[in-house]
Amino acid sequence: MSYNGALFDSDTTRVEVCCWNCNHSVTLRRGDVKADLDRHDFERRAICSQCQTGWPQTTKFPRRKPTSM
Ligand SMILES: [Zn+2]
Repeated sequence: MSYNGALFDSDTTRVEVCCWNCNHSVTLRRGDVKADLDRHDFERRAICSQCQTGWPQTTKFPRRKPTSM
């Protein structure tokens, strides 16, 4: 059972990591990082390989459908 704070939760197959400063982006797939890696932990520690800027933006795919009720 995974919790919501994980970078790769049970619905996520890939994560795009994008530098807000220079737009360099990489795609992480399940298995590229620790399964229980915390999303905020990752963002806090990640450094752009192009411009050394920290705190990239992460976007999970597939995107969640809006919850309806
Ligand atoms: Zn960058």
